[in-house]
Amino acid sequence: MTTTTNLITTTRRTTTSPSRFKRLATRLRALEVAQPESIFLSENSKTGFSINTAIPLTCKPTAACQKYCYGLVGRVCMTKALIRQVENVKRFKALERATTPELAEEAFVIARLVTYHQNFLRMFGVGDMQPGSIRFISTLSAMFPALQLWVATRRFDDAAHLPYQENIHVMLGLDATTTAANVAKAKLLMRKRRSRFYAAWVQRDEFEPIPPWVSVVFAEHQMTHRATWTRKNRDSRTCMATVAGGTKHDNACAKCQRCFNTEKRLN
Ligand code: SF4
Repeated sequence: MTTTTNLITTTRRTTTSPSRFKRLATRLRALEVAQPESIFLSENSKTGFSINTAIPLTCKPTAACQKYCYGLVGRVCMTKALIRQVENVKRFKALERATTPELAEEAFVIARLVTYHQNFLRMFGVGDMQPGSIRFISTLSAMFPALQLWVATRRFDDAAHLPYQENIHVMLGLDATTTAANVAKAKLLMRKRRSRFYAAWVQRDEFEPIPPWVSVVFAEHQMTHRATWTRKNRDSRTCMATVAGGTKHDNACAKCQRCFNTEKRLN
């Protein structure tokens, strides 16, 4: 019988099947999803609020993240959640051509809901950017400068279209399978948009070297299973909510803030 300890001894064993990404795409194609009238705000214990979009419709995955992505397993993959993610893709598509007042109204509604509880919003708990979401992020950041927007992306060409704003923190996601061309794009963005654009790296085993220019390291984990090697052999930049015996998920990001607070990230 496989024990929990066996499951978390190495990260490789917690990796999901590569076909999960394809299966998710197949499931999405079978869904009937109506055009929504507004963006759906999701909630989770770690980041609080987030806006999610459908992974197969928006992501440019690396070879590795098609296997380890937390968005390919668990509750976020249940049909109801998937429908919400596709609805958001449709809504952002509509916002590409929305009038300025319509965009402002959407931003106002979301900001009012979020800021009642927290001062930051994770863009793309799962999924990634599209032209309408870039417009939305730009509007939201300008209207609500005290709301910190934490934008996680692997779409580096699109990220270049985000404005340089104090309250937009763009987390460029990389791993050991990111292509050399994309590494170069990420480094260029970090040079041009110093301090607001930063690199995050998913580490898949304890011996994997992490480049010195990376700000945040996520040790690969699946759901609550965290790699045992992180107890001792972790990089000092590792998110403690991915470390065995580290921070619990509950409210972890609100307490830590490193990914959306420039001072905490740089210190
Ligand atoms: S480093 Fe901090 S803010 Fe970033 S994901 Fe981990 S707990 Fe959240």
